[in-house]
Amino acid sequence: MLEISAGGVVFRHNEQGELQVQLIQDRYGKVSLPKGKMEAGETVEQTALREIEEETGLKGVIVAPIDQIKYQYEHSEHGTVNKEVHYYLVEAVGGKHQAQVEEIRGVDWFEPLEAWRRQKQSGYDNNHRIVAGALQLLGISVS
Ligand code: ATP
Repeated sequence: MLEISAGGVVFRHNEQGELQVQLIQDRYGKVSLPKGKMEAGETVEQTALREIEEETGLKGVIVAPIDQIKYQYEHSEHGTVNKEVHYYLVEAVGGKHQAQVEEIRGVDWFEPLEAWRRQKQSGYDNNHRIVAGALQLLGISVS
């Protein structure tokens, strides 16, 4: 089975004008990024923005594509699922953080280098280059 999801690295400038990057804690307890499955009739960009709003409460606009990741997991009914997740750099333009607790455990803003530290410490390995790619598009280079 192939599953296609989309999501994003969301950023904002806070009231002090400082750049901040959003990270979530997913329902498996890992640091991750908001995302979800494509629905019929949607573009990947629409999926990404819908899922970001559903999971975190924030409305966003797409700034640029980042990249995609691929992984596999075992589903109790469907067996092996081959999954592709398309990620975008997204600027928050409205709404406020409200974690949808059925889908994620939490959501917060971090200063960019703190977000990078948390991603490397507690995130999925294949999301490292997504977060690094987002930071690079925002003018911050990490490795
Ligand atoms: P979606 O958010 O796309 O609706 P979901 O919550 O149903 O998806 P996943 O987040 O893909 O499903 O989680 C299914 C399994 O894959 C879990 O065991 C999870 O820990 C694991 N998983 C989630 N993200 C990644 C990743 N980036 N790399 C590897 N495994 C992951």
